Amino acid sequence: MKKGKVYLVGAGIGDAENITIRGKKLLEKADVIVHDRLMNKELLNELKDDSILINVGKASADHLVPQEGINQILVDYAKEGKEVVRIKGGDPYVFGRGGEEAEFLLKNGVEFEIVPGLTSAVAGLCFAGIPITHRDYASSLHLITGHKKDGVESIDYKNLSKLSGTLVFYMGLKNLYNISKSLIENGKNEDTPVAVISNAGYPNQSVQVGNLENIDKLVKENKNIVSPAIIAVGDVVNLREKLNFFEKRDLFSKRIVVTRSREQSSKLKRKLLDLGADVIELPSIKIKPKNLDIIDDEIKDIKKYTHLIFTSKNSVKIFMDEFIKISDIRNLSGVKIAVVGNGTQNELFSYGIKADILPSTYIAEGLFDELKNILKSDDRVLLPISSISRDYLKDNLSKICELKSVDIYDTVIENKHDEAIEKILMRPVDFITFTSSSTVKNTIKILEDKADIILKNPNTKIISIGPITSKTIKEFGYEVDIEAKTHNIKTMIDIMIKEGKNENEKN
Ligand code: SAH
Repeated sequence: MKKGKVYLVGAGIGDAENITIRGKKLLEKADVIVHDRLMNKELLNELKDDSILINVGKASADHLVPQEGINQILVDYAKEGKEVVRIKGGDPYVFGRGGEEAEFLLKNGVEFEIVPGLTSAVAGLCFAGIPITHRDYASSLHLITGHKKDGVESIDYKNLSKLSGTLVFYMGLKNLYNISKSLIENGKNEDTPVAVISNAGYPNQSVQVGNLENIDKLVKENKNIVSPAIIAVGDVVNLREKLNFFEKRDLFSKRIVVTRSREQSSKLKRKLLDLGADVIELPSIKIKPKNLDIIDDEIKDIKKYTHLIFTSKNSVKIFMDEFIKISDIRNLSGVKIAVVGNGTQNELFSYGIKADILPSTYIAEGLFDELKNILKSDDRVLLPISSISRDYLKDNLSKICELKSVDIYDTVIENKHDEAIEKILMRPVDFITFTSSSTVKNTIKILEDKADIILKNPNTKIISIGPITSKTIKEFGYEVDIEAKTHNIKTMIDIMIKEGKNENEKN
């Protein structure tokens, strides 16, 4: 039997990209993943299909699975010969009970490995704009648990108060009053700067700055400061004013709903995350290829066509994947290729092909205007297209020449959206983006009776990629706040950045 092994992996904090490459690789091939609450759940989206996911979600008071239970789960699966990843927020060995778990594995003869992660003191201060050490202000750092063990205060304030380095308290939010008071009582200057950093590294990161004397009061008044939070004490806190890069990003903390299919939304989502946005995916549609046997026949016969037309990235991808599977790309050399827009062109380009025809307005009408001057009556056109596309192109092209149109994919509604809807209802989102008529239709269908509350919220702006999408939105009785002048994702992002800035100026 294969020998099992346990990896204690640190996920880091904040963005899913803050895990180490090694951690990510182990996660993707693990047989069993044991996780809790303090980590980015995005990391759990790309696991092996048959992996077993176990949530031992510990909040500080309500342990879902007690530590002994977790230890036993790790041992049991490893003994079955499985590769187990025990993933934790931050670093497994920094207030993460990783040491206890490793000892238990050793005692039970289970092989283990530790994969370090970015701990919240170091990374959290960094994202708050605070360098944890600095030659002018702090030459040491001290990580302390602010949590009382069995209700008993165990912090050595007397010695801590003498230190001039940066003090960082984990699990100390509830005990903040005591911590600050005790440091002052033991001789630390009451003017010493303090920052409380909540949800560090996430789009909802929130920071309250004060000093030892007033921080407890300020934090109590600031409803954005919630657990998890770290407390930083020391002069380095003052650097935040200059070095706060994280919260200055163009879309920081903006809540944006993305309604494309999972497959398509990932790039848009990544761009938005990089700009600091809180992205909520409403995976409204899933692409399901169809009629591949018909397409295969046409591909074998491709030489009889003079033109090939793509009106979406999906049709390019599905068609081209089939093409390279059963034919050779050089067989396309005699065929002129037309695409409807930039996204479609770029997808084609990823197969090493440049489009011959790209209309100046990115809609079917624009493409037809271009084609009607080019196509002759003896041309033969192949059009692999979505089963729910409008008939406009088909009807008009077939009046000019021979047209073979094949429905190459269906868009089906996904049902993993309850969590997303709940998140939207909790607090109005800033923007909802629509990139096609079909996503509008599907999203409204998914939202059911909640569509009105969500889409008519005065604080939420609806951004549409272009006139056809806008028309559909209006047909359902909703207003389009802004339509992209050039119909692409980049323009939509620029609109949100501009709107966000206007909004910030108003406040
Ligand atoms: N192993 C973790 C710490 C676990 S103890 C690490 O290395 O970071 C849990 C404490 O970590 C919380 O009470 C809080 O103080 C801190 N913490 C974890 N994630 C955090 C985050 N995103 N923002 C602020 N503090 C965080």
